[in-house]
Amino acid sequence: PGLNPQNRFVTLGEDYFSRVEPEPLPDARLLHVNRDLAAELGLSPDSLDSPEFLALMSGNARLSGGCEIATVYAGHQFGVFVPQLGDGRAILLAQVQDTQGRWQDIQLKGAGPTPYSRFADGRAVLRSSIREYLAGSALHHLGIPSTRALSLVGSSLPLRRETIESAAVISRVAPCHVRFGQFEFFYYQGRHEALAPLADQVIEQHFPELFEHPQRHAAWLRIVVERSARLMAQWQTVGFCHGVMNTDNFSVLGLTLDYGPYGFLDAFDAHHICNHTDEGGRYAYDRQPEVGHWNCSRLLQACLPLLHEVPEQAVEIAQAILDAFPPTYTEAVTRRWRAKLGLVAEESDDPELINRLLTIMHRSRADFTRSFRMLSELESATDAAPRLRDYVGDLEAFDAWLDDYRARLRREHSDDAQRRQNMNAVNPKYVLRNWMAQGAIEQAQQGDATEIDRLMRLLARPYDEQPDMERYFAEPPAWAQHIEVSCSS
Ligand code: AMP
Ligand code: MG
Ligand code: MG
Repeated sequence: PGLNPQNRFVTLGEDYFSRVEPEPLPDARLLHVNRDLAAELGLSPDSLDSPEFLALMSGNARLSGGCEIATVYAGHQFGVFVPQLGDGRAILLAQVQDTQGRWQDIQLKGAGPTPYSRFADGRAVLRSSIREYLAGSALHHLGIPSTRALSLVGSSLPLRRETIESAAVISRVAPCHVRFGQFEFFYYQGRHEALAPLADQVIEQHFPELFEHPQRHAAWLRIVVERSARLMAQWQTVGFCHGVMNTDNFSVLGLTLDYGPYGFLDAFDAHHICNHTDEGGRYAYDRQPEVGHWNCSRLLQACLPLLHEVPEQAVEIAQAILDAFPPTYTEAVTRRWRAKLGLVAEESDDPELINRLLTIMHRSRADFTRSFRMLSELESATDAAPRLRDYVGDLEAFDAWLDDYRARLRREHSDDAQRRQNMNAVNPKYVLRNWMAQGAIEQAQQGDATEIDRLMRLLARPYDEQPDMERYFAEPPAWAQHIEVSCSS
């Protein structure tokens, strides 16, 4: 349909992947296409409505010149090293260059088993496919690096999970899907010579400016660590919880990768655990930055052989790269919180001001998205109570905080109108809450994709006021408290 596959990954050789064939999907129906993404890939609008496109995106047809491979990786899952994982239900179809000349992988997710499926079926249920389809787009439009999805194809094929659900296939698009776990796989197998070709391909395609760098692997790892730290800062300040921050779900491009039991914070609980199966709370909201740091330590461990022939020096270099994570994170997150509060100048007490607000919000379980959006309505000069005040239980603490916040705004001669505009550009009005995804899922399970389409349009402009969409700014309805998301997908 207008794709020109270039398949660079296969040139690495069969140590890195297995050739696979998608399994036919019965009764495939195109439920949604991300037309903006299709345009970025250079696909014509007409081609998206063709039977060929549906056949390709469901695994029912081959892409001429495509590659059809599943990559092998390992990973630390909930802190435990698993020596072999791999694409158990993802198939790389092609690598193409988009209209900007950037490399993009096109993967099918849920198109049947691969040699890495272990005992599972290689499929994905409609429920989790919709969640991934919506989330990739939502994060992208929030300005957070993420994989995206081009198409969502439904099917009548039944799958056994906790109950019987129907299957779906999404096509996932990202500059590359290489994970930390790919490096861990070769490192722990003792096949250290396999690390450099993989790193070099990532560098060549995605960091070409580093290719001639005398220490290109160290330079690249420095960027991975930086991007990971900044990604954590972005997740934290928008209230995004990933849910399964295993190293096999961490991208070497710093993309948000693998949407399973993720969630956006509703009522703010700093210790919120979005994954029902994460009993220990390893991946709780407030632990995400330290997990991101730890995951980087796993990547650096696996990449030690890339850093120097002298092992002792490699450890020092790796440690120095890793040590950049905390200050990079702190700088990025403080900058973002400051912007969320509408502060332009920097004062040394700002972190305290931010933390006091978060503590009040946590104690009163104030809605994360609504609180920050409402804070922008505050007038600095008057005592007019912002709507936000209705949210917080601890009025004494909140009013004291407001006094200090107003004084802080006055010190930088903040202009209310300008501040509101700045704040509304960084505090989203609409995020993909679980209850919203759930509504789209239940409708799609009845064959109706209207809500998916509505949410895709809503979340493409998360910072804009959309008056006819005000209901999506609401707190979750009571029934939503019972939504549980887990790794079963
Ligand atoms: P995740 O927790 O989604 O990151 O998945 C961990 C591993 O399990 C990866 O290797 C996946 O490919 C694999 N996996 C998850 N679900 C399935 C499935 N239904 N069929 C085959 N492999 C799966
Ligand atoms: Mg995964
Ligand atoms: Mg997954």
